[in-house]
Amino acid sequence: MAYNLELDIAINAVVKASRLCRDVQNSLISMDTVEKKDRSPVTIADLGSQAVINLELLKSFPHDPIVSEEDTDALDSHEYLRGKVLELVSVQIDHVNEAQILEAIDYGTREIDYRSRFWTVDPIDGTKGFLRGEQYAIALALVEDGQVVLGVLGCPNFPLNYERPEDGKGCLFFAIKENGAFMQGLDQDKREAIHVDFISHPSEARFAEPVEKAHASHTAHAQISSALGITTPPYRIDSQCKYAAVARGDVSIYLRLPKDKSYQEKIWDHAAGSLIVNEAGGRVTDIHGQSLDFSKGRRLQSNEGVVATNGRLHEKVLNVISNPRNSEKVIKQ
Ligand code: AMP
Ligand code: MG
Repeated sequence: MAYNLELDIAINAVVKASRLCRDVQNSLISMDTVEKKDRSPVTIADLGSQAVINLELLKSFPHDPIVSEEDTDALDSHEYLRGKVLELVSVQIDHVNEAQILEAIDYGTREIDYRSRFWTVDPIDGTKGFLRGEQYAIALALVEDGQVVLGVLGCPNFPLNYERPEDGKGCLFFAIKENGAFMQGLDQDKREAIHVDFISHPSEARFAEPVEKAHASHTAHAQISSALGITTPPYRIDSQCKYAAVARGDVSIYLRLPKDKSYQEKIWDHAAGSLIVNEAGGRVTDIHGQSLDFSKGRRLQSNEGVVATNGRLHEKVLNVISNPRNSEKVIKQ
């Protein structure tokens, strides 16, 4: 199958990065001395995760461009943090030194041709969730001609089963274009195909939205969901775990209407998740029904907001968003 090698390398990279993030989070939980305002745990996990992914990708695909969120600025003149990142990365990758780590992190900041083949990485998507000990994701995708062809999401705190949280947590989701979407436990090899739900009456649906009020308009979402007759409260979780929730049928809709109309979404916040939903039988567009165009740079410049659904509900949701009766209230949030 096309992209099989890429998938193996990507899964290995995301699993290692997820373990690194979990190590930091475990030490965070045991250190009650860490102040809530202290961003250093997220800094070292973010940069460590990006280093692991970029190093693993470059080992196998030394000529592929990588677009990743972070740079090494936060490590300049912070010897302690650099030492911590080296310590964390060395647990996952043998024989690596500080210079190689810094180079790998900054490899992701180079300017590239976005119409060519490139990888995009969000080393910790949902840093606020990470700090709260809630949901976050490690996201990696391969883009060709502006379209995502492979996506992997590591979700260390995501329940293996939505209905049965007691079954444990830690999931890996992945998809290759036109080959379906799959899930496995982060510490297991057994994969299973996943599918969106089959709900076609909007009133039976549940929708997901960001926890952070600044990242999307909760008010607009409340108006849309009420117009759709949805009565179940929103599923508020951080990161691309929301895409995973739609892809696995935990919820039927993910709404991300911009709070600030000038905000352009970043490619690494949507590449992996959107492919996984599409491949699980769902649909992802912006709020105008346009498909997401990943060829425009580090941001989705030609798109506004995001709507992901189980497919059956997509037109209904878009209609409510664009219906003039609602649009004044809904879009101007
Ligand atoms: P979520 O966990 O769904 O809230 O998404 C987290 C992502 O939101 C982060 O990775 C940021 O890149 C992105 N983000 C930051 N500011 C905004 C904003 N004003 N609107 C939408 N997304 C944002
Ligand atoms: Mg992100």
